Amino acid sequence: MQIEPQAFDRVLSSMCTEPHPVAREAAERFLATNPGDPGTYPAISSLEDEAIERLGEIAGLADPAGYVTSGGTEANIQAVRIARERAETATPTVVMPESGHFSFQKAATLLGVDLQLVPTDDDHRADLDAVRACVDDDTALLVGVAGTTEYGRVDPIPELGDLARSVDAMLHVDAAWGGFVLPFTDHDWNFDHAPVDTMAIDPHKMGQAAVPAGGLLVRKQSLLDELAVDTPYLESTSQATLTGTRSGAGVASAVAAMDELWPAGYREQCTRSQANAEWLAGALTARGYDAVTPELPLVAADVPAATFEALRDAGWRISRTGTGELRIVCMPHVTREMLEAFVADLDELGSH
Ligand code: PLP
Repeated sequence: MQIEPQAFDRVLSSMCTEPHPVAREAAERFLATNPGDPGTYPAISSLEDEAIERLGEIAGLADPAGYVTSGGTEANIQAVRIARERAETATPTVVMPESGHFSFQKAATLLGVDLQLVPTDDDHRADLDAVRACVDDDTALLVGVAGTTEYGRVDPIPELGDLARSVDAMLHVDAAWGGFVLPFTDHDWNFDHAPVDTMAIDPHKMGQAAVPAGGLLVRKQSLLDELAVDTPYLESTSQATLTGTRSGAGVASAVAAMDELWPAGYREQCTRSQANAEWLAGALTARGYDAVTPELPLVAADVPAATFEALRDAGWRISRTGTGELRIVCMPHVTREMLEAFVADLDELGSH
């Protein structure tokens, strides 16, 4: 096969990154294993237990339950599914700020629940008054985002927890991207800080594991049991995951990355990425582009559409927010040198 994979040296839009070398090596070793069949593949199954222990440690959850998903989408779908299974109403709804990831639209369609989007405030966080006005006895799940896809914002998770409890709904935190950064900030986002029931937290994003390695954490095993089905032809007897056969490579690489990097390596990376984001926001502002203050390592800025297209034509992999701002994610592979080269191109092409 002649096709080369995408090089990372111009990728500024992705929420995935180059796997850490130990994660890459572990992925290769476990390529031919299937944690979906733990009776037949016990080694990868016990590694998955380790992955969940580690994720629990990162997210402030002692005695965690959950599994390594194919990504944030699967974790979010499963969280909606758990909430729907537990709901006592015939017409369950999911309430989510409009900054929530589009995977919840897939979940709502698949599961036949009504997704109610509420506005965000001027700083792109869930507007609590709007959420309060929306929740009612039909609310099965309230979603808070800890590290939004477009602006890297963290919703007021403890307050959302109180609102969820006031209507007997569950609280799901989508920390798919933010979960490996937030432990090094003073945000209240995790199981320790709020009555969180379920969480998406993905090793294959800021966790530097190989794709596919997402994470679903649940506060107690009984929540996961809501999803279990019998599995007659396997050596094991039940399965709570959405997919059947799963990637042992993803699981092994997640454990290897977390063993290697939690917490000191992730802290260092987070500091580096945040400094890069602040540098970039400063460089854009100095050139007259309106940039959103990066609270986590993600920069959004108003750049004319023609300039955006010219940068893309120059080979930069960049993306836009729903309202058209340039969006750059300072993932581990994004170095200061890359950003300097990007800004130099912006200076050259910006007059378009
Ligand atoms: N949740 C958030 C906050 C995300 O940013 C993303 C993807 O970027 C997802 C969920 C979906 O994750 P995946 O693409 O791994 O399914």
